[in-house]
Amino acid sequence: MKKIAILGSTGSIGTQALDVVRNLPGEFKVSVLAANSNVELFSKQIEEFQPELAVLADETAYKILKEKNFGGTKIAGGRQAFIDAAGFDGVEIVLTSMSGFAGLEPTIKAIKCKKNIALANKETLVVAGEIVTKLAADYGVKILPVDSEHGAFFQCLQGENYKSIEKLLLTASGGPFRGKTRADLQNATVNEVLAHPTWNMGKKITVDSASLVNKGLEVIEAKFLYGVNYEQIQVVVHPQSIVHSMVEFVDGSIIAQLAAPDMRLPIQYALTYPDRKISPIKKLDFWEIKNLTFEKPDFETFKGLKFAYEAGKIGGTMPCVFNAANEVAVAAFLAGKIKFLQIYDVIENAMNSRAVIKNPTLEILLDEDKIVRNLSEKFILQFCT
Ligand code: MN
Repeated sequence: MKKIAILGSTGSIGTQALDVVRNLPGEFKVSVLAANSNVELFSKQIEEFQPELAVLADETAYKILKEKNFGGTKIAGGRQAFIDAAGFDGVEIVLTSMSGFAGLEPTIKAIKCKKNIALANKETLVVAGEIVTKLAADYGVKILPVDSEHGAFFQCLQGENYKSIEKLLLTASGGPFRGKTRADLQNATVNEVLAHPTWNMGKKITVDSASLVNKGLEVIEAKFLYGVNYEQIQVVVHPQSIVHSMVEFVDGSIIAQLAAPDMRLPIQYALTYPDRKISPIKKLDFWEIKNLTFEKPDFETFKGLKFAYEAGKIGGTMPCVFNAANEVAVAAFLAGKIKFLQIYDVIENAMNSRAVIKNPTLEILLDEDKIVRNLSEKFILQFCT
């Protein structure tokens, strides 16, 4: 049995990963579960999967958790314990399904402890793509993408030389606001943003999908995973979310990966790689589908995508700036403090305020992230209310 650690087990990807484990009895042993603060769901997961170690990052939640009795499972708490859990002895694969910049340090810890990474936390590669990919190469660790588009690229590229990639065709559903203008989106509500047409996901990524910032983060993620230039990554809006992405090769051939939009498939492939196992996802019926459509994204309305390309091309600390400003803006939007379109203002302000630092160290990135969070909070207080 493959021993796995699931970091972020109570979130959308984490719970679906546990479903994958349930559906493949005898394949996996969940050695480590780690989450932030959802004591109730986390307790049920510990009872069902009986991991060797269970960690809650939030200290208050941990105090409640440790009063309960979970038999042989060791219970730990706090941010450092969460990071350390990524290096737990005997674990073969660490699934990084926590959300945001907070995923960076645990991922680095896992790589340094020679764990293969099933990477769901795209922010890690966006913020520190050079550091993380170099570290993974140095430690001989595989980064197995869980993001559906990057999982698709990975499948299309099996047995191929990455040097023969002409273009990565990164598909996007377009989110709930596809076809809308800036005028339409002036008063977009949180509920409208959270009503995603094809994917059921956590709140942060659902807002990112509506703003196309998610696609922007994925452009940067793809660049680091596959070593291409930004000019070789083309975003294609595909509202049905059936083609999960495509690779065009130098000879003009295009290979695509198709399946029903169900995150359990890319999660499962990352965990069972290089093997394929049966899965419960709905099979496609092309007599029923009839049409698959494709269109160009609207870079002017959904400026998040444009800013992501800019940040990526500038490189250095700029993707970190882009990401930190977006995380602050999304939290502010969800809290009702700013309007939907102001997410772009917060990002633009941060990118204009910060000079790029080339080849940043991890310490510089951690500092930059803090600085940008502070200046973005201030910007929201001053200009967005
Ligand atoms: Mn995705």
